[in-house]
Amino acid sequence: MGLVREQVEVPAHPKVVESAPGRPPEPRSQPAMPQPSPRPGQVSASYLAPEGPVARPPAEVVRAAPDLAALERCIQGCLACPLGPGRFRFVFGEGDAEARLMFIGEGPGKDEDQQGRPFVGKAGELLDKMIGAIGFQRNQVYIANLVKCRPPDNRTPTPSESQACLGYLKRQIELIDPAVIVTLGATPLRELLGVSTGITKVRGAWQRLELHRSIPVMPTFHPAYVLRQYTNEVRGAVWADLKAARAWMDEHP
Ligand code: SF4
Repeated sequence: MGLVREQVEVPAHPKVVESAPGRPPEPRSQPAMPQPSPRPGQVSASYLAPEGPVARPPAEVVRAAPDLAALERCIQGCLACPLGPGRFRFVFGEGDAEARLMFIGEGPGKDEDQQGRPFVGKAGELLDKMIGAIGFQRNQVYIANLVKCRPPDNRTPTPSESQACLGYLKRQIELIDPAVIVTLGATPLRELLGVSTGITKVRGAWQRLELHRSIPVMPTFHPAYVLRQYTNEVRGAVWADLKAARAWMDEHP
């Protein structure tokens, strides 16, 4: 059974461009050399990501990462919270680096940890259907998680784990600069926007993320929750939220 009971004709957005869904880390062609420290707020052109795990990359380097590839190189060895040592693969996120629509989930699950990609299990299949229902393909949007490493047993990341990772997500959002963000489930909404109202109450109600600019945020249910509560009511609610996000994008080209 599909996610939605109706389908609407929605035009492909002119800004959408096709891109490869994944961006594996680029190989470094030069050996790591001692480098002078970049000035605050700047990345030295010669900055090289560390070869191995690091407790935490310098905050000023994260904030000044010039593009997603540089950001990923900078943080992929992070061990700044207890989730780092337990991961099999770091899950940075994937999609169109210039996407107007960005989805933010909670954290990698088992399948994501194995493949190093976000939303690739059953919940990922449903998210693909959700994306398709509003006229996009997966590689035309951007998909990321609040935390980049898998919490054990797929538990919810703790507030301290979430906050340890939040600067990476914020820089990711700034670089993508989406027109609209759809948050999936309660956790990213709470940690990113400070909204702790239950997702059942707050879903469908527009929020604002004040970052490099004010970005509209539509909260909806996490696809894993939809799979567990596969009712007309829950599916209808998600469909309404996605339609609202798409409508906002169409009204603000
Ligand atoms: S979850 Fe985030 S902060 Fe924690 S180790 Fe992984 S990348 Fe670092």
